[in-house]
Parts: sequence; C-alpha cells; structure tokens
Amino acid sequence: MNTQARILESGQIEAPAGQIPFLRLAGVDVFSHRAERFRQLSQGHPLGGYLAFLGTLAQAQQEALAHFPAVPLPAPEQQVLCREHGMPLLGAQAWPRDLAWRTGLKVILRYMSVVSLPAPASEAVARLMQASEAELEETAGKLLMGDLAAVNAQDMPFVAAALQVYWIHMAAALGEHAFGRLEQGGLCPACGSHPVAGVVRVGGEEQGLRYLSCSLCATEWHMVRIKCSSCESTHGIHYYALEGSNGAVKAESCDDCDTYLKLLYMEKDSQVEALADDLATLPLDVLMDEAGKARGGPNLFFHPGVV
Ligand code: FE
Ligand code: FE
Repeated sequence: MNTQARILESGQIEAPAGQIPFLRLAGVDVFSHRAERFRQLSQGHPLGGYLAFLGTLAQAQQEALAHFPAVPLPAPEQQVLCREHGMPLLGAQAWPRDLAWRTGLKVILRYMSVVSLPAPASEAVARLMQASEAELEETAGKLLMGDLAAVNAQDMPFVAAALQVYWIHMAAALGEHAFGRLEQGGLCPACGSHPVAGVVRVGGEEQGLRYLSCSLCATEWHMVRIKCSSCESTHGIHYYALEGSNGAVKAESCDDCDTYLKLLYMEKDSQVEALADDLATLPLDVLMDEAGKARGGPNLFFHPGVV
C-alpha cells in the first residue's frame, strides 16, 4: 500500500515557490466553519458527543473573537527583526500574553455556562470561572509549552480555546505581510507552534499543494509534499490510511524521526477542516502509535491521558 501511495504522491507537480501564496491566515469565520464541520462529523460518530461539544465550543470561540478588544502587538522594528532572522513574531512561549486572553476565556465560559453540557464539562466551566489569574496563567503556560499531560483534562479545551482566539486575533490584526519564513519549515511562521495536520488543497494556484495548519493560531503555511514536517527528511516517507476509508485522511510518517502528521485531501472531501478532522480520525492515531510513530504536532483538544 505504501509503494502505491508513494507513486500517487510523486505524480503531483508543484508550482515553483514564489508563485504561490506561502501563508494563509485564518479567516474571520474560522470558528464558525470549524463549528459546522464538528457538527457534520459528530453525526453517527463513536466520539459524537465530544465532537458536538467541540462544535459548541467553536461557536463560543467565534463569539469571543468577534468581540475581542484591541491588544498590544509587536512594534514594526520587532516585525522587521523577526522576518530577517526567521523567528516567529508571536512566539507561543516567548510572546508576553496580554490579560485580554482571559477576558476571551470569560466570554467562552459564559457562553458554555448556558448550554447543556455533560456534568464534567459543566463542573470545569464553574471551576474555571472561579480560578485565580495565577492558576489560569500556569495552565496556559503548560499548554503553550506543549506539556498537555500536565494540564487538567477537563480544563484543557476551554483554556486552549481561549488561547486560540487570542492568537488568531493577533495574527489577523497584524496581517499576513507581518510574517516571514522561519528557519524551520515545519513550524508556524506566526507563532512557532507545531501543525495539527496538513491539508492538500484544491482549486486555483493552490491546486494539489500541501499547507500545514497551526495547532494554535490556525495559520496555514506551504510546505512541499513528501517531506517530513518534523525533521524535513524526504526519505522514508510513508502513507497510511484506515481500511475502508475514502482516503480523505492519511497519516504521513517518517522513518528518520519516527513521527507522523495527518494529511487531509480536499479532493476527496472539500469540507475537511484540519483540527476537526484530525480529532474525528483518532483510530488512525491508534494505528500509528502501534506502528511506533509519535504525533508530529499536538491537537489542543486531544488530551494525551484520555485516549
Ligand atoms: Fe501559529
Ligand atoms: Fe522526520
């Protein structure tokens, strides 16, 4: 299967870099789109309850994004410096978080407090509404460091949701020209985070191109295909799909660093959404885990201790 998949992948001819958009920032309706996709995917799905919950959470995120206040942004000199040195302008760990992210969290929690939720989620909402600033900042710090296992599983989706809103707001306020390419092609040019998945796009000049999608700020950036997003090796790349699937989601694995990242093919399903479709295909993660491969990037709604 791998050999066959490899031949198909190689058959794609990519436009030369420079003629194609390198960066695509998340649109203003990013969370509405994600909410809709979660709702679609939740129908008849074994994890339907959780996917539907995340659909509602994405709606809350849309609400928070729509009312987000103006926040401090990197100065023009800092923007030039980061572009020149290939550093992320809004580094997930380095950027001094404005307290507005917690205001966004409050909007999300209020939204979620009036919808019907399973008991553990309701309890988490109540707890987070009372949590101290120090506690919330500590949780945010762990999340942004990638130490998901250290974060309370019930609190994680709400805090992650608020951080996503804050980072997406900042990236949108700066505009795509603020960001340059990074030294490491597999990290988000805006915030330096790992991708949640990659999307092979259809249509126009992006036809057949692979864009990686940021796990935090949903920025998409171009990376050539058949290349490991973690170590950038072009050898020993293999593709895995679940038996009986329509081929819209495959895992791209690397023999050099033993990681994988899912690729979503719009040609097979035009509605794919990186974060939602990644979560809806957890059996593929189980398969890859059994094959000894680790995820090349986190999904901030997938707690390592839960599955
Ligand atoms: Fe990012
Ligand atoms: Fe690799």
